[in-house]
Amino acid sequence: MSELPFRPAPPLLVQRDPALRSTIGVYADSRGLGKCRGPNCGAPIEWAQVTGSGRRLCFNRGVTRCAISYEPASRRRVDHLDRAAIHACPDAAVFRAEHKDQR
Ligand SMILES: [Zn+2]
Repeated sequence: MSELPFRPAPPLLVQRDPALRSTIGVYADSRGLGKCRGPNCGAPIEWAQVTGSGRRLCFNRGVTRCAISYEPASRRRVDHLDRAAIHACPDAAVFRAEHKDQR
């Protein structure tokens, strides 16, 4: 994915629906499509790295981008995604068990 030129613009708000106001900021250049590895899930998802914590979250494919901003220090574009579209995996418990040793 190519990098967009940096524009020192104020956050662009394109909120259309009050229900979409609850958002979570992710780095636009970290977003990637994938498929959930849950043994009983396999849903099409989208990975993205959360700003600040750097934690990777998965969202349902086609998650709504409610707003765009730019992180001042890194000039990375931040997409503010609909928090309601965070992938609620039926296999969440399986993943927690899998990753227990890696943290
Ligand atoms: Zn899943």
